[in-house]
Amino acid sequence: NYGWIDVITSGSMYAGKTTELIRRVRTYILAKRTAAVFQPRMAKRYTEDEVIVSHDGLRFEAIHTDSPLEILWYAEIHKPNVIAIDEAQFYDEMLVSTVQELANRGHYVIIAGLSQTSEGKPFGCMPQLLALADSITCLYGVCVVCGEPATKPFALQAKTEDVMVGGGDRYEARCRKCWLEGRRQR
Ligand code: ADP
Ligand code: MG
Ligand code: ZN
Repeated sequence: NYGWIDVITSGSMYAGKTTELIRRVRTYILAKRTAAVFQPRMAKRYTEDEVIVSHDGLRFEAIHTDSPLEILWYAEIHKPNVIAIDEAQFYDEMLVSTVQELANRGHYVIIAGLSQTSEGKPFGCMPQLLALADSITCLYGVCVVCGEPATKPFALQAKTEDVMVGGGDRYEARCRKCWLEGRRQR
């Protein structure tokens, strides 16, 4: 078993990261590999069940934890071939060493995470994870204003909390031009 760090990222939400993560995990399961999916607690949208849910309703069984150490423990006990982590931008920097350790132990690690905040800044530990990745897939949504590829998350209201979790009621996928125009109109 060789280890691998496979990062799925996008600048905007609604780009299909969770959909792609679920698709890749399902493919590994078809290929007789075992897999475990993790997501931070704060990202638990749409459901109270232990699942991850994409914006178009695709669901997959997942464990909700904010602790990278818990992911490491789970891996030691259950030894899944594939470990997938969704919404990785919400984890602290401990995730970076954890992901490297998991890959060093031979796990195939799939990471999905938003690369930038609605302020246009690099998001959490995503810069480090992208730098350490063995493969990177960058996805795009559709700009809800003009229909061009969306590369940025636009916050509909100016931020009140440091990290605001939300869906379509709080964030839109926008291209750079429409993102800049929206921010100037505030
Ligand atoms: P992500 O994890 O990147 O936020 P998801 O995989 O959860 O994305 O959701 C992708 C789905 O969101 C698309 O297949 C589409 O059905 C839906 N969607 C809603 N708004 C948009 C948009 N503006 N651009 C692209 N897809 C959108
Ligand atoms: Mg997602
Ligand atoms: Zn646009």
